[in-house]
Amino acid sequence: MCGIVGYIGNKNISSVLLNGLKKLEYRGYDSAGIAILKNKRICVVKTKGRLAVLEEKLKNEKLNGFAGIGHTRWATHGEPNDVNSHPHISNNGKIAVVHNGIIENYIKLKDFLTGKGFEFRSETDTEVIAHLIEYNYKGDILKAVMNTMNDVEGAYALGVVCTDYPDRFVAARKDSPLIVGIGNNENFIASDIPAILEYTRDIYILEDKEIVSITADGAEIYNLLGEKVDREIFHVDWDVSSAEKGGYEHFMMKEICDEPSVIKATINPRIQNNKIVFEKLNISDELIKNGSMLEF
Ligand code: GLU
Repeated sequence: MCGIVGYIGNKNISSVLLNGLKKLEYRGYDSAGIAILKNKRICVVKTKGRLAVLEEKLKNEKLNGFAGIGHTRWATHGEPNDVNSHPHISNNGKIAVVHNGIIENYIKLKDFLTGKGFEFRSETDTEVIAHLIEYNYKGDILKAVMNTMNDVEGAYALGVVCTDYPDRFVAARKDSPLIVGIGNNENFIASDIPAILEYTRDIYILEDKEIVSITADGAEIYNLLGEKVDREIFHVDWDVSSAEKGGYEHFMMKEICDEPSVIKATINPRIQNNKIVFEKLNISDELIKNGSMLEF
């Protein structure tokens, strides 16, 4: 589990992203990074290691901008290093993506995209998302992300910025948590409430296979059919320490209540067309039938 934050508004953007990521440190991570939209360009700063290392790097960068996304990574595909850290950028440099989760069919998608001339820089499953959005992009970033969501299998929370949309960013989720924070002329996304509680207590809880288009004025949620979804604002009236416990009185109670969704998120990506698939392990039916698979 890692963390995602996103911000659009007039505050100092790298501080808001960094503060948010710090509040998500409890989720565990091995690297961190941010992407900020500035003058129709995307500036990325990312690094292996703790947020303190990122913070140090940011001191030399003097980044400002109106919209940005941030990420703490817990590596699943590719070792923790600077290149594999998120955000990942599309080949044309117009799209940056942060991703929490696992893309199960990334090998198939990588082969497809390589055949179309895309070049991969990292070993991550996530990089296919950045290139796939570029491939699907025909002038409408929301549609491009929706089509990409239809192409990928697995679990994801996503934050996406695109240079053609300097006053907007897009987020989406399936089987990984994501909330939208609604502020006053500023808006947020985050993997969990504590990341934004300092700025707002009004949130939308995104549901599976939903996508949200976020400007400083508001957030519009859509389903994968492109239909607008009405969502009630959830007002968080817990104090900060309860928010860290998801509103539960004790962490143990939170962990007990989290179990069904955690088990679902772990198992779901491995069930495809009613079959259990362990693609990455490369276990043949033969091996399983022989019962000789226990030595890895
Ligand atoms: N699977 C992605 C990676 O290895 C994202 C991992 C995460 O959720 O942090 O980069």
